[in-house]
Amino acid sequence: MTISPADIESIRKKFPVLHQKVNGRPLVYLDNAATTQKPLSVIESLDHYYKTTNANIHRGAHHLAHQATVMFENTREKIRTFINARESAEIIFTSGTTDSINLVAQTWGRMNIQAGDEILLSHMEHHSNIVPWQMLAEEKGATIQVIPVTEQGEWQIEMIDSLLNKKTKLVAVNHVSNALGTINPVATLIEKAHAIGAKILIDAAQSVAHFATDVQKLNCDFLCFSGHKMYGPTGTGVLYGKRELLEAMPPWRGGGEMIKSVSFEKTTYNEIPHKFEAGTPHIAGVIALGAAVDFIQEMSWSEIEAHESELLLDATEQIQTMDGLRIFGTSANKTGVISFGVEGIHPYDIGTLLDKQGVAVRTGHHCTEPLWNRFGVPGSVRASFAVYTTKDEIELFVAALNKSISMLK
Ligand code: PLP
Repeated sequence: MTISPADIESIRKKFPVLHQKVNGRPLVYLDNAATTQKPLSVIESLDHYYKTTNANIHRGAHHLAHQATVMFENTREKIRTFINARESAEIIFTSGTTDSINLVAQTWGRMNIQAGDEILLSHMEHHSNIVPWQMLAEEKGATIQVIPVTEQGEWQIEMIDSLLNKKTKLVAVNHVSNALGTINPVATLIEKAHAIGAKILIDAAQSVAHFATDVQKLNCDFLCFSGHKMYGPTGTGVLYGKRELLEAMPPWRGGGEMIKSVSFEKTTYNEIPHKFEAGTPHIAGVIALGAAVDFIQEMSWSEIEAHESELLLDATEQIQTMDGLRIFGTSANKTGVISFGVEGIHPYDIGTLLDKQGVAVRTGHHCTEPLWNRFGVPGSVRASFAVYTTKDEIELFVAALNKSISMLK
């Protein structure tokens, strides 16, 4: 069952930023894979926290410190349920997906990756899920292996068995590609990785807001995502890790909160998750991330998926026949992301003309340069949808795109 137009309208009322004109036209915001807009409940949660509660967490004996701690820890529990982790100690707050991946690279990675080991990535990873591993591989003398991507923008599945071997210590892949929208068959890869004794990290930055995530069912070792791509504040993110792995990992950043006791002779470290949360976090942001989870959970996953797939189908049908237009990522299994190029026109020029008509899309390499090198193009124009995107907006986008192409040809 999809979300009814009336419900979409009431959802849109919760997003003040959507109700404005850009360049004299109603804003059509189709850059949701970069960041989603925020509902009033999230904005008001930030405001409410600073107006009524602001205090540092975990350490204070006073009322406000206690309140702030309870609110902060409530979000940890909400995130635990959201991704079905076994316990809230397996949820570590970070500043985003990039931060979460770097944490794993600098702790689990530095402890477990040795010279000659292999780290398996895919050709459609975001730079955030490439560079931290390259830095680690360089330091340790390990090598990076890459799952190739087909013309349709899917993993070349038949290559996986030969890429996984006893030297593979870690597999790190996204669940959904930010550049193509492909939903990758991570469950199969998780099983295969475990069968050869490797650990696996899932970059869920582009999936958590679009379909249900169940870390116990997936049985992944680590899972990372950003608050700002799921209607929450920027500067918030999550690292999920299995307890036994997190406990065995050394801390990364040293400072307050992550310690049990400090002396110049010997410092001992706090329990998880606090061992990985040095310093004062984005308290207001984490609390507001809880409001973002509540916002998502007001809808059912089947409604969200049905709505976003209808938009994807609608937009794909309308633009795929345009002269010289090529869609990158034509998998049958996609979220609401359309990446495309038009022969003879630079993506940036299309993006600029769309913006003049009020349509916000992303152009460029979307932090996936290796992927575009594989396709032999500098990048793409990317339109990406969210729960508040309407069919009327797809019509406006298609009309604006037609106009832009005819002006540029
Ligand atoms: N991974 C994927 C698949 C992404 O789409 C992004 C952001 O676009 C990231 C990682 C990095 O997320 P952040 O910049 O929030 O750390």
